[in-house]
Amino acid sequence: MSYTADTNRYDSMQYRRSGRSGLKLPAVSLGLWHNFGAIDDYEKCRTIIQTAFDNGITHFDLANNYGPPPGGAEETFGKIFKQDLKPHRDEIIVSSKAGYGMWQGPYGDWGSKKYIVASLDQSLKRMGLEYVDIFYHHRPDPETPLEETMAALDLMVRQGKALYIGISNYSSTETQKAIEVLNALGTPLLIHQAKYSVLVRWVEEGLLDVLEKNGVGCIAFSSLAQGVLTNKYLTGIPAESRAASERGNGALEKNALTEDILNRVRKFNEIAQQRGQSMAQMALSWVLKDPRMTSLIIGASRPEQVTDSIQCLKNYSFTNDELEAIETILK
Ligand code: NDP
Repeated sequence: MSYTADTNRYDSMQYRRSGRSGLKLPAVSLGLWHNFGAIDDYEKCRTIIQTAFDNGITHFDLANNYGPPPGGAEETFGKIFKQDLKPHRDEIIVSSKAGYGMWQGPYGDWGSKKYIVASLDQSLKRMGLEYVDIFYHHRPDPETPLEETMAALDLMVRQGKALYIGISNYSSTETQKAIEVLNALGTPLLIHQAKYSVLVRWVEEGLLDVLEKNGVGCIAFSSLAQGVLTNKYLTGIPAESRAASERGNGALEKNALTEDILNRVRKFNEIAQQRGQSMAQMALSWVLKDPRMTSLIIGASRPEQVTDSIQCLKNYSFTNDELEAIETILK
Protein backbone atom coordinates (compact mmCIF):
# COMPACT_ATOMS: atom_id res chain seq x y z
CA MET A 1 0.00 0.00 0.00
CA SER A 2 1.36 3.39 -0.88
CA TYR A 3 1.30 6.06 1.82
CA THR A 4 -0.11 9.56 1.59
CA ALA A 5 0.57 11.74 4.61
CA ASP A 6 -2.46 13.21 6.40
CA THR A 7 -2.99 16.78 5.23
CA ASN A 8 -4.08 17.79 8.75
CA ARG A 9 -0.89 16.49 10.36
CA TYR A 10 0.17 19.85 11.77
CA ASP A 11 -3.18 20.78 13.33
CA SER A 12 -2.74 19.59 16.90
CA MET A 13 0.94 18.89 17.64
CA GLN A 14 2.82 21.48 19.65
CA TYR A 15 6.40 22.43 18.78
CA ARG A 16 8.93 23.68 21.31
CA ARG A 17 12.21 25.47 20.66
CA SER A 18 15.34 23.60 21.70
CA GLY A 19 17.06 25.99 24.09
CA ARG A 20 18.12 29.19 22.32
CA SER A 21 18.61 27.44 18.95
CA GLY A 22 16.60 27.94 15.80
CA LEU A 23 15.22 24.40 15.91
CA LYS A 24 11.78 23.43 17.15
CA LEU A 25 10.91 19.84 18.00
CA PRO A 26 7.49 18.26 18.47
CA ALA A 27 6.68 18.08 22.19
CA VAL A 28 6.27 14.32 21.60
CA SER A 29 8.91 12.53 19.51
CA LEU A 30 9.14 8.84 18.59
CA GLY A 31 12.09 6.58 19.44
CA LEU A 32 13.12 3.32 17.75
CA TRP A 33 15.19 1.70 20.51
CA HIS A 34 12.89 -1.33 20.71
CA ASN A 35 10.11 -2.65 18.41
CA PHE A 36 11.91 -1.70 15.17
CA GLY A 37 14.53 -4.46 14.90
CA ALA A 38 14.87 -7.17 12.29
CA ILE A 39 12.79 -9.43 14.60
CA ASP A 40 9.80 -7.04 14.48
CA ASP A 41 6.98 -7.11 11.94
CA TYR A 42 7.93 -4.62 9.20
CA GLU A 43 4.39 -3.58 8.26
CA LYS A 44 3.62 -2.87 11.92
CA CYS A 45 6.76 -0.72 12.21
CA ARG A 46 5.66 1.13 9.11
CA THR A 47 2.19 1.83 10.50
CA ILE A 48 3.65 3.17 13.76
CA ILE A 49 5.89 5.62 11.86
CA GLN A 50 3.04 6.65 9.54
CA THR A 51 0.71 7.22 12.49
CA ALA A 52 3.34 9.33 14.21
CA PHE A 53 3.99 11.49 11.15
CA ASP A 54 0.26 11.83 10.44
CA ASN A 55 -0.09 13.29 13.94
CA GLY A 56 2.66 15.88 13.63
CA ILE A 57 5.49 13.84 15.16
CA THR A 58 8.30 15.12 12.99
CA HIS A 59 11.17 13.78 15.07
CA PHE A 60 12.43 10.17 14.94
CA ASP A 61 15.18 9.17 17.35
CA LEU A 62 17.62 6.35 16.56
CA ALA A 63 21.09 5.13 17.50
CA ASN A 64 23.69 2.96 15.81
CA ASN A 65 23.02 0.05 18.19
CA TYR A 66 19.18 -0.02 18.22
CA GLY A 67 17.76 -3.32 17.00
CA PRO A 68 18.20 -6.23 17.40
CA PRO A 69 20.59 -6.79 15.79
CA PRO A 70 22.58 -3.58 16.34
CA GLY A 71 21.93 -1.42 13.28
CA GLY A 72 18.57 -3.18 12.72
CA ALA A 73 16.41 -0.18 13.67
CA GLU A 74 18.35 2.13 11.33
CA GLU A 75 17.84 -0.38 8.53
CA THR A 76 14.11 -0.62 9.24
CA PHE A 77 13.85 3.17 9.39
CA GLY A 78 15.84 3.47 6.12
CA LYS A 79 13.38 1.16 4.38
CA ILE A 80 10.35 3.07 5.69
CA PHE A 81 11.99 6.38 4.83
CA LYS A 82 12.56 5.25 1.25
CA GLN A 83 9.06 3.84 0.91
CA ASP A 84 7.03 6.56 2.65
CA LEU A 85 8.89 9.56 3.97
CA LYS A 86 11.39 10.52 1.29
CA PRO A 87 9.19 13.26 -0.18
CA HIS A 88 8.99 14.70 3.37
CA ARG A 89 12.74 14.75 4.17
CA ASP A 90 12.67 18.50 4.85
CA GLU A 91 9.76 18.06 7.28
CA ILE A 92 11.49 15.55 9.53
CA ILE A 93 14.26 15.53 12.11
CA VAL A 94 16.21 12.26 12.27
CA SER A 95 18.70 11.71 15.05
CA SER A 96 21.27 9.00 15.59
CA LYS A 97 23.96 8.33 18.16
CA ALA A 98 27.28 6.62 18.76
CA GLY A 99 28.74 5.74 22.13
CA TYR A 100 27.90 2.14 23.00
CA GLY A 101 29.50 -1.07 21.68
CA MET A 102 28.78 -1.44 17.97
CA TRP A 103 31.49 -3.54 16.34
CA GLN A 104 34.40 -5.69 17.45
CA GLY A 105 37.87 -4.42 18.23
CA PRO A 106 39.12 -1.23 19.89
CA TYR A 107 37.41 1.23 17.47
CA GLY A 108 33.77 0.18 17.81
CA ASP A 109 32.80 1.71 21.17
CA TRP A 110 33.02 4.80 23.43
CA GLY A 111 34.18 8.19 22.14
CA SER A 112 37.30 8.24 19.97
CA LYS A 113 37.30 10.28 16.77
CA LYS A 114 37.96 7.02 14.88
CA TYR A 115 34.75 5.45 16.25
CA ILE A 116 32.51 8.52 15.97
CA VAL A 117 33.39 9.25 12.33
CA ALA A 118 33.10 5.62 11.18
CA SER A 119 29.87 5.07 13.09
CA LEU A 120 28.04 8.02 11.56
CA ASP A 121 29.11 6.91 8.08
CA GLN A 122 27.65 3.48 8.79
CA SER A 123 24.41 4.96 10.18
CA LEU A 124 23.91 7.15 7.12
CA LYS A 125 24.36 4.14 4.83
CA ARG A 126 21.89 2.03 6.83
CA MET A 127 19.26 4.78 6.77
CA GLY A 128 19.93 5.87 3.18
CA LEU A 129 20.34 9.48 4.31
CA GLU A 130 22.85 12.14 3.27
CA TYR A 131 22.85 13.68 6.73
CA VAL A 132 21.23 13.30 10.15
CA ASP A 133 19.61 16.31 11.73
CA ILE A 134 20.97 15.62 15.22
CA PHE A 135 24.00 13.48 16.02
CA TYR A 136 24.60 12.51 19.64
CA HIS A 137 27.44 11.21 21.68
CA HIS A 138 25.46 8.52 23.50
CA ARG A 139 27.36 8.39 26.81
CA PRO A 140 30.47 10.01 28.30
CA ASP A 141 33.77 8.21 27.74
CA PRO A 142 35.97 8.35 30.87
CA GLU A 143 39.14 7.54 28.89
CA THR A 144 38.97 9.66 25.72
CA PRO A 145 39.66 13.40 26.19
CA LEU A 146 36.36 15.29 25.96
CA GLU A 147 38.07 17.65 23.50
CA GLU A 148 38.62 14.77 21.05
CA THR A 149 35.01 13.55 21.20
CA MET A 150 33.57 17.05 20.84
CA ALA A 151 35.95 17.87 17.96
CA ALA A 152 34.76 14.70 16.20
CA LEU A 153 31.11 15.85 16.58
CA ASP A 154 32.05 19.33 15.34
CA LEU A 155 33.79 17.73 12.34
CA MET A 156 30.58 15.86 11.45
CA VAL A 157 28.75 19.20 11.31
CA ARG A 158 31.49 20.80 9.23
CA GLN A 159 31.40 17.88 6.80
CA GLY A 160 27.62 18.26 6.43
CA LYS A 161 26.89 14.81 7.86
CA ALA A 162 25.00 16.28 10.84
CA LEU A 163 23.19 19.58 11.26
CA TYR A 164 23.18 19.76 15.08
CA ILE A 165 25.00 18.10 17.95
CA GLY A 166 23.61 16.48 21.09
CA ILE A 167 24.93 14.57 24.08
CA SER A 168 23.20 11.95 26.17
CA ASN A 169 23.66 10.58 29.67
CA TYR A 170 26.31 13.20 30.56
CA SER A 171 26.25 14.46 34.18
CA SER A 172 25.68 18.18 34.87
CA THR A 173 29.41 18.81 35.32
CA GLU A 174 30.35 16.88 32.16
CA THR A 175 27.62 18.74 30.28
CA GLN A 176 28.93 22.16 31.35
CA LYS A 177 32.42 21.18 30.12
CA ALA A 178 31.07 19.82 26.81
CA ILE A 179 29.13 23.06 26.25
CA GLU A 180 32.31 25.10 26.75
CA VAL A 181 34.39 22.94 24.41
CA LEU A 182 31.71 23.00 21.71
CA ASN A 183 31.24 26.77 22.03
CA ALA A 184 34.97 27.26 21.52
CA LEU A 185 34.75 25.11 18.38
CA GLY A 186 31.82 27.17 17.07
CA THR A 187 29.23 24.37 17.11
CA PRO A 188 26.93 25.03 20.07
CA LEU A 189 25.32 22.09 21.83
CA LEU A 190 21.69 21.78 20.69
CA ILE A 191 20.24 19.36 23.19
CA HIS A 192 20.83 16.87 26.00
CA GLN A 193 18.95 13.55 25.93
CA ALA A 194 18.29 12.30 29.45
CA LYS A 195 16.25 9.67 31.23
CA TYR A 196 13.46 11.52 33.00
CA SER A 197 10.17 10.33 34.43
CA VAL A 198 8.20 10.71 37.58
CA LEU A 199 10.26 7.72 38.83
CA VAL A 200 13.73 8.89 37.69
CA ARG A 201 14.45 12.48 38.70
CA TRP A 202 18.21 13.09 38.47
CA VAL A 203 17.90 15.89 35.88
CA GLU A 204 16.20 18.03 38.54
CA GLU A 205 19.40 18.00 40.59
CA GLY A 206 21.41 20.43 38.45
CA LEU A 207 21.27 19.30 34.82
CA LEU A 208 18.17 21.32 33.88
CA ASP A 209 19.74 24.43 35.47
CA VAL A 210 22.96 23.98 33.47
CA LEU A 211 20.98 23.53 30.25
CA GLU A 212 18.73 26.52 30.87
CA LYS A 213 21.65 28.80 31.77
CA ASN A 214 23.45 27.87 28.55
CA GLY A 215 20.40 27.91 26.25
CA VAL A 216 20.50 24.19 25.54
CA GLY A 217 17.37 22.04 25.14
CA CYS A 218 16.47 18.85 26.96
CA ILE A 219 14.69 15.81 25.52
CA ALA A 220 13.52 13.07 27.89
CA PHE A 221 13.52 9.33 27.32
CA SER A 222 11.74 6.45 29.03
CA SER A 223 9.16 8.81 30.54
CA LEU A 224 6.78 5.82 30.71
CA ALA A 225 9.53 3.78 32.43
CA GLN A 226 9.33 1.39 29.46
CA GLY A 227 5.63 0.78 30.09
CA VAL A 228 5.62 0.58 33.90
CA LEU A 229 3.78 3.92 34.03
CA THR A 230 0.91 2.67 31.86
CA ASN A 231 -2.06 0.47 32.64
CA LYS A 232 -0.22 -2.48 31.01
CA TYR A 233 1.09 -4.22 34.12
CA LEU A 234 -1.64 -3.39 36.65
CA THR A 235 -3.03 -6.91 36.72
CA GLY A 236 -0.09 -9.04 35.56
CA ILE A 237 2.40 -9.32 32.72
CA PRO A 238 0.68 -9.61 29.31
CA ALA A 239 2.35 -11.94 26.78
CA GLU A 240 2.61 -9.08 24.29
CA SER A 241 4.69 -6.72 26.40
CA ARG A 242 8.28 -5.61 26.67
CA ALA A 243 8.65 -7.24 30.08
CA ALA A 244 7.60 -10.62 28.64
CA SER A 245 9.70 -10.26 25.49
CA GLU A 246 13.18 -10.99 26.89
CA ARG A 247 14.64 -8.72 24.20
CA GLY A 248 17.75 -7.89 26.24
CA ASN A 249 19.77 -4.74 25.44
CA GLY A 250 18.42 -2.90 28.49
CA ALA A 251 14.75 -3.76 27.90
CA LEU A 252 12.43 -3.89 30.91
CA GLU A 253 12.61 -7.22 32.71
CA LYS A 254 9.96 -8.98 34.77
CA ASN A 255 11.88 -8.62 38.02
CA ALA A 256 11.59 -4.81 37.80
CA LEU A 257 7.83 -5.14 38.33
CA THR A 258 7.91 -5.51 42.08
CA GLU A 259 4.74 -5.43 44.18
CA ASP A 260 5.99 -2.17 45.75
CA ILE A 261 6.28 -0.44 42.37
CA LEU A 262 2.95 -1.83 41.17
CA ASN A 263 1.17 -0.66 44.32
CA ARG A 264 2.51 2.84 43.83
CA VAL A 265 1.61 2.77 40.13
CA ARG A 266 -1.98 1.76 41.02
CA LYS A 267 -2.29 4.85 43.23
CA PHE A 268 -0.76 6.97 40.46
CA ASN A 269 -3.46 5.57 38.18
CA GLU A 270 -6.19 6.80 40.54
CA ILE A 271 -4.93 10.38 40.13
CA ALA A 272 -4.85 9.95 36.35
CA GLN A 273 -8.46 8.77 36.39
CA GLN A 274 -9.49 11.80 38.46
CA ARG A 275 -7.81 14.02 35.84
CA GLY A 276 -9.60 12.19 32.99
CA GLN A 277 -6.31 10.91 31.53
CA SER A 278 -4.88 7.47 30.89
CA MET A 279 -1.91 6.73 33.13
CA ALA A 280 0.45 6.97 30.14
CA GLN A 281 -0.95 10.38 29.27
CA MET A 282 -0.51 11.65 32.82
CA ALA A 283 3.06 10.33 33.09
CA LEU A 284 3.97 12.16 29.88
CA SER A 285 2.12 15.38 30.83
CA TRP A 286 4.00 15.37 34.11
CA VAL A 287 7.32 15.60 32.21
CA LEU A 288 6.05 18.21 29.76
CA LYS A 289 4.75 20.52 32.52
CA ASP A 290 8.31 21.87 32.80
CA PRO A 291 8.87 24.42 30.00
CA ARG A 292 12.58 23.55 30.00
CA MET A 293 11.69 20.20 28.43
CA THR A 294 11.90 20.62 24.67
CA SER A 295 10.37 17.23 23.95
CA LEU A 296 10.07 13.69 25.19
CA ILE A 297 10.67 10.53 23.19
CA ILE A 298 8.00 7.90 23.44
CA GLY A 299 8.45 4.27 22.50
CA ALA A 300 5.54 2.35 20.97
CA SER A 301 4.87 -1.25 19.98
CA ARG A 302 1.65 -0.42 18.13
CA PRO A 303 0.08 2.64 16.46
CA GLU A 304 -2.71 2.94 19.06
CA GLN A 305 -0.06 3.68 21.72
CA VAL A 306 1.11 6.67 19.69
CA THR A 307 -2.39 8.09 19.38
CA ASP A 308 -3.07 7.46 23.08
CA SER A 309 0.20 8.96 24.28
CA ILE A 310 0.00 12.21 22.28
CA GLN A 311 -3.26 13.06 24.05
CA CYS A 312 -0.99 14.09 26.95
CA LEU A 313 -0.75 17.45 25.18
CA LYS A 314 -4.39 18.17 26.02
CA ASN A 315 -3.58 18.78 29.67
CA TYR A 316 -0.14 19.22 31.14
CA SER A 317 -0.95 21.60 33.95
CA PHE A 318 -1.24 20.18 37.46
CA THR A 319 -2.73 21.61 40.63
CA ASN A 320 -0.47 21.81 43.67
CA ASP A 321 -2.62 19.16 45.33
CA GLU A 322 -2.11 16.78 42.41
CA LEU A 323 1.65 17.38 42.40
CA GLU A 324 1.89 16.80 46.14
CA ALA A 325 -0.16 13.61 45.90
CA ILE A 326 2.13 12.33 43.12
CA GLU A 327 5.25 13.18 45.17
CA THR A 328 3.92 11.29 48.13
CA ILE A 329 3.14 8.21 46.06
CA LEU A 330 6.16 7.96 43.81
CA LYS A 331 9.22 9.88 44.88
P1 NDP B 1 8.81 4.56 27.03
O1 NDP B 1 9.10 4.75 28.48
O2 NDP B 1 7.89 5.49 26.34
O3 NDP B 1 8.31 3.03 26.86
C1 NDP B 1 7.75 2.58 25.67
C2 NDP B 1 6.90 1.33 25.90
O4 NDP B 1 5.81 1.66 26.77
C3 NDP B 1 6.26 0.80 24.64
O5 NDP B 1 7.11 -0.07 23.92
C4 NDP B 1 5.03 0.11 25.17
O6 NDP B 1 5.39 -1.14 25.75
C5 NDP B 1 4.62 1.01 26.32
N1 NDP B 1 3.65 2.05 25.90
C6 NDP B 1 3.91 3.17 25.18
N2 NDP B 1 2.82 3.92 25.04
C7 NDP B 1 1.82 3.27 25.69
C8 NDP B 1 0.46 3.57 25.92
N3 NDP B 1 -0.07 4.70 25.44
N4 NDP B 1 -0.27 2.68 26.63
C9 NDP B 1 0.28 1.54 27.12
N5 NDP B 1 1.59 1.22 26.94
C10 NDP B 1 2.35 2.08 26.24
O7 NDP B 1 10.12 4.69 26.19
P2 NDP B 1 11.39 3.79 25.84
O8 NDP B 1 12.04 3.29 27.07
O9 NDP B 1 10.98 2.83 24.79
O10 NDP B 1 12.33 4.89 25.21
C11 NDP B 1 11.83 5.77 24.19
C12 NDP B 1 12.96 6.22 23.32
O11 NDP B 1 13.92 6.98 24.07
C13 NDP B 1 13.79 5.10 22.70
O12 NDP B 1 13.16 4.51 21.57
C14 NDP B 1 15.04 5.85 22.33
O13 NDP B 1 14.83 6.60 21.15
C15 NDP B 1 15.20 6.79 23.52
N6 NDP B 1 16.12 6.23 24.53
C16 NDP B 1 17.36 6.80 24.68
C17 NDP B 1 18.29 6.30 25.55
C18 NDP B 1 19.62 6.96 25.69
O14 NDP B 1 20.50 6.42 26.36
N7 NDP B 1 19.81 8.11 25.08
C19 NDP B 1 18.00 5.11 26.37
C20 NDP B 1 16.64 4.61 26.21
C21 NDP B 1 15.75 5.16 25.33
P3 NDP B 1 5.13 -2.56 25.04
O15 NDP B 1 6.29 -2.69 24.09
O16 NDP B 1 5.21 -3.50 26.21
O17 NDP B 1 3.80 -2.51 24.37
